[in-house]
Amino acid sequence: MNFLYGVIVIWNDTTLRIKQVWEESCREMISMAYIPTCTCGLEGVHSRNPESGHPQGRSLDMRSKDVPFHLRMPLLHHAQQKFGSDYLVLLEDDHYHIQRQHDSFGRPAATPKSVEV
Ligand SMILES: [Zn+2]
Repeated sequence: MNFLYGVIVIWNDTTLRIKQVWEESCREMISMAYIPTCTCGLEGVHSRNPESGHPQGRSLDMRSKDVPFHLRMPLLHHAQQKFGSDYLVLLEDDHYHIQRQHDSFGRPAATPKSVEV
């Protein structure tokens, strides 16, 4: 995995799982040679959505613009299935937002429908 300059990641069970499952998904759906790029970690300022989970270390964003267009939604669905219902994968304009739906302290996050980044 590559990291955009300036991205700050705290490694915990959630972010390590996001990294592992996303890398596996990309290998399975795109190619063995594809290296995903993390574009946002802790430093994400999603002021409109305090439940995005970035400041709490339970979300990472991944670049989508280098994913072949016809594979963007299949990759999302493939990854979502691998993550299971504890995690949420969204395709935004130029990135995937991946978050654990509950924060590190066990408090429930907002319902997935209200999540935006
Ligand atoms: Zn995000």
